[in-house]
Amino acid sequence: VSDTGKIWPPKQEAIEAAARALSEGLLVGFPTETVYGLGADARDDAAVAKVFEAKQRPKINPLIVHVRTLECAQEHVQLSAAAIKVAEAFWPGPLTIVANRKSECSISLLASAGLDTLAVRAPRNKIAQSLLTAFDGPVAAPSANPSGTVSATTAIHVAAGLSAEVAYILDGGPSEVGIESTVLSMVDDIPSILRSGAVARADLEKILGKISDAPHPSGAIRSPGQLASHYAPILPVRLNATSADKTEALLAFGPKPIEGAASTLNLSVSGDLSEAAANLFAHLRALDRAQYNGIAVMPIPNRGIGDAINDRLSRAAAPRPI
Ligand code: AMP
Ligand code: MG
Repeated sequence: VSDTGKIWPPKQEAIEAAARALSEGLLVGFPTETVYGLGADARDDAAVAKVFEAKQRPKINPLIVHVRTLECAQEHVQLSAAAIKVAEAFWPGPLTIVANRKSECSISLLASAGLDTLAVRAPRNKIAQSLLTAFDGPVAAPSANPSGTVSATTAIHVAAGLSAEVAYILDGGPSEVGIESTVLSMVDDIPSILRSGAVARADLEKILGKISDAPHPSGAIRSPGQLASHYAPILPVRLNATSADKTEALLAFGPKPIEGAASTLNLSVSGDLSEAAANLFAHLRALDRAQYNGIAVMPIPNRGIGDAINDRLSRAAAPRPI
């Protein structure tokens, strides 16, 4: 049972109170179209440090800084013509752009994990936008869950993992997209995807041409999204299941769920990948019960956002650190 006392409906007074809390160096849980974020004033070192502590996030993993608009982003990072073009095409929206910090960048170096680059995104969620407007500054926000665990797609999920750490949680209902932003590096001449996500590679390539598959060439960057074990429920996860056991919970996909599991939740009965993405983290949490021995997952097609779903599932299934 989680403490839901800090959850607020997203009325203007609550948004303003949350913005004041950010100004005071406190943390706020808020909805974005991807997943819920754990926000802090991105210019305040102590507040950004609190985010790492609250999540127990390794300090080498940089944070995404949320801004209202492309113009706001350009106060902090140098964007190439191609980066501006892709931002104009997808912002506000679930695309994160990594670019070089400007010399006058006021964002905490901790948010960049000491790198010369910064990840920025303008979210399209209305509550996120209202919070950014009320706060009138950049908000560093990773997903609002303890590091390594399943991301939060409802206000209750945020409270379950982090209620002691936040001043307010703004309740925007279930996340629209349900999976994290695509992280695109525009640092080098050839763009590269550092983390697959809500915006499909093919849609980025329509704007940018070929995107590199290679690991980010200009540094030993370890995205938390790149860590082998991430997004992990407590139970072990078994992928590409073609049968299920009566001790297992089943995460199904499509009109013909396999039979025999103790319990089944279907990501999308009609086989719709956007619906599957929206349900992914909530279903993983709901199936993560000690009464089962594991979670079996049916195969998910690798097209469009299916690529990001499979990325998250393979990390959920990876061997766990002890
Ligand atoms: P999360 O905040 O949990 O959604 O994860 C943010 C993702 O963006 C992680 O994969 C980070 O490592 C990645 N990221 C943030 N900033 C940078 C950066 N400056 N360079 C490379 N990756 C970054
Ligand atoms: Mg995360």
